[in-house]
Amino acid sequence: MPNIPFLDLVTPHRELEAELTAVFQNTLRTAGFIGGPVIEKFEHDFAQFCDAKHCVGLASGTDAVRFALMAAGVEPGESVITVPNTFIATTEGISQAGALPEFVDVDERTYNLDPEKLREYLERHCDKDQESGRPISRRTGRIISAIVPVHLYGQMADMDPILELANSYNLVVIEDACQAHGAEYFSKKDNRWKKAGSIGKAAAFSFYPGKNLGACGEAGAVTTNDAEPAHEVRMLRDHGQSRKYYHEIEGYNGRLDALQAGILQVKLAHLETWNKQRRERADEYKRLFEASGAALPPYEPSWSRAVYHLYVVRTEDRDGMMNHLKEMGIGTGIHYPVPLHLQTAYTSLQYRLGDFPVAEKAAAEVVSLPMFPQLSAKQQAYVAEGILNFTSMAVR
Ligand SMILES: *Cc1c(COP(=O)(O)O)cnc(C)c1O
Repeated sequence: MPNIPFLDLVTPHRELEAELTAVFQNTLRTAGFIGGPVIEKFEHDFAQFCDAKHCVGLASGTDAVRFALMAAGVEPGESVITVPNTFIATTEGISQAGALPEFVDVDERTYNLDPEKLREYLERHCDKDQESGRPISRRTGRIISAIVPVHLYGQMADMDPILELANSYNLVVIEDACQAHGAEYFSKKDNRWKKAGSIGKAAAFSFYPGKNLGACGEAGAVTTNDAEPAHEVRMLRDHGQSRKYYHEIEGYNGRLDALQAGILQVKLAHLETWNKQRRERADEYKRLFEASGAALPPYEPSWSRAVYHLYVVRTEDRDGMMNHLKEMGIGTGIHYPVPLHLQTAYTSLQYRLGDFPVAEKAAAEVVSLPMFPQLSAKQQAYVAEGILNFTSMAVR
C-alpha cells in the first residue's frame, strides 16, 4: 500500500543536505550564533522577495504578530479585529501586545476576512471616537486600533476594501502572512499585483518548519515598507536596546538566530520554484476533482495567486473521508477544527456558538489533503481515487 504523507519534510532537506550541513559548519567555525552578516543578508533577500523595504528576523511568527502590532502603535487596553478561523498564534500575538482580539466572520469561499462583514461590524456595532476617529466597540467598550487579516492557506485576503475601511476609520492593518510567503494580490486600486507582506503597515511571517519557507527549528520575521516600525521591531526583539546595554525600552528576547537564518537563506533560493510546484499540484488536484465531480476544489478569485500552503477541500462527512483515506495510507489534516471564539482559552471573551456561522461551518467540514512541492502526479492520482471512491460510496 502506498504511504502518502500529509506533509513531507524529509525529501526537501535530503536534497539540500550538503548545503545545509555547510551552514552549520560555517556557524561553528565562526561562532556567529547571534546577529551578524548571515542574518542581515537573509533579511535583505527576504524583504526583496516580498517587495518590502525592510525585513526584521525574529524567533517566531507569534513574536512577529506581537511585535508588528506593538511597533504599529497598538496600545494595551485596545481591541484588534481578526478572524476566528486561524491558528491561535494570531490572537496570542494580539493578546501579548496587550490588546483584546475581536472577531469578524470570513467569506464562505475564500475563508478569509469578509470585507462586507467588516464594514457592517464597524458601521453597526461600533461608535466613532471623536478624538481619534477610531471605532469604539460596543461589545467591549474598547477602542479598536488595528485589523489583522490572515492570508489563510496561502491565499491573500481581499486587501483593497479592507485597506479602504481601515483608512476611513484610522485603523492600522497588520497582515498575518504566516502561511502566505510569495502569495500575490491584484490591487484594482493600484492596478498591479502585490506580494503578501508588502501591503499593510507591517506583516508577520512564520518560518516554522512546515511553512512554505521553513527553518530547521523556530523562526519568523516582520516585513514593512516603513523605517519606523522596522526600527521599533529591531529594538523589541533585542531587549529594547538601541546599542549594546543602552535600553530605550524594555523589550524581549525575540531574535532570529544565525543558524536558522543561514538555513533559510539556502531554502529561500528554492521558494519560488516550490511555490510554483504547489500551484501546479493545486491545478492537478482541480483537474482530477473536476473530472470526477468528487470534491470541492478551493476557490481562487481572479485577483489572487495563492501559494497553497494548504490544499483544503470540504465534506459533510469529514470523519468518514479522513478514515477512508487513512485506510488507503493517505495522510490528511484539519485546519482548524475549533474556531478560536469557541476555544476554552477564550471563554472570557464571551462569544457563543452561532456568532460566526461561516467560520463554524468551515471548521466542521474542512479537510487538508497532502500538499507539498515534491508531491508526484502519481500520488495525487491515488489521493483523487481515494476521494472518488469515498464519495461514490457515500452516494450509495
Ligand atoms: C504558523 C502561524 C503563526 C505563528 O507562527 P509560529 O512561527 O509558529 O509562531 C501565526 N499565524 C498563522 C496563521 C500561522 O499559520
